[in-house]
Amino acid sequence: MLELNNVSHVYSNGVRALDDVTLSIPKGMFGLLGPNGAGKSTLMRTVGTLQTPTSGSITFDGLDILQDPETLRKRLGYLPQDFGVYPRVSAYDMLDHMAVLKGIAGKGERKDTVETLLNQVNLWDVRKKAIAGFSGGMRQRFGIAQALIGNPDLIIVDEPTAGLDPEERNRFLNLLAAIGENVVVILSTHIVEDVADLCPRMAVIVQGSIELEGAPKDLIEKS
Ligand code: ADP
Ligand code: ADP
Repeated sequence: MLELNNVSHVYSNGVRALDDVTLSIPKGMFGLLGPNGAGKSTLMRTVGTLQTPTSGSITFDGLDILQDPETLRKRLGYLPQDFGVYPRVSAYDMLDHMAVLKGIAGKGERKDTVETLLNQVNLWDVRKKAIAGFSGGMRQRFGIAQALIGNPDLIIVDEPTAGLDPEERNRFLNLLAAIGENVVVILSTHIVEDVADLCPRMAVIVQGSIELEGAPKDLIEKS
């Protein structure tokens, strides 16, 4: 369970991107829905300890993540909105390299990790191809594979379906839903359909404030 208590963030230009956010996020896939500029990326970066909020506290299974971001990072998988792509590197080599960076030193363990992930995200057949040649959907599935290295139990995906065609989008969301059975997955999106079918819980953020929180079937019927 991830818990945010009275979290606010004011940028140096005075923009209040998060305004007293209090939110409990249980295990499973959680949708964070909001229009552009609502504060989704700020919230994701804050939970991912890439930035420190102006005020408030955040705990993950009791761990104070602002006091101990290093411990949180060992348990975190993050797919940022602007995930960089490495042109001439194959999917296999890139994952292998990232596994080294994550501290998986043993060659055998790394091979197992990389092979399992490539199969899980359905990129085994293209593992030797350069990521640069991948479609949007393949890149996002690659992004999920890199986020899953080291078995994180908190996974953050920021606007992952932007630019995906419907088939790729469904494939990607179903992959996330399968992952989310055992861990906390936070999916940020401005697309209602992304959260409606697959997220048991969701919140709506507007201008830095949580406007609604609950099960999509209750919230979306009302609006
Ligand atoms: P989103 O697509 O989530 O709305 P933005 O386009 O607002 O994201 O932001 C893209 C990047 O630019 C982010 O890294 C963000 O930190 C930065 N950024 C956004 N707005 C500003 C701003 N007013 N001043 C400085 N940096 C900004
Ligand atoms: P979203 O991801 O929902 O589009 P963001 O978190 O990117 O929203 O942005 C929330 C607000 O904060 C916007 O008004 C944006 O311009 C502003 N913002 C984002 N990043 C920065 C930044 N680095 N510096 C200043 N303002 C920012």
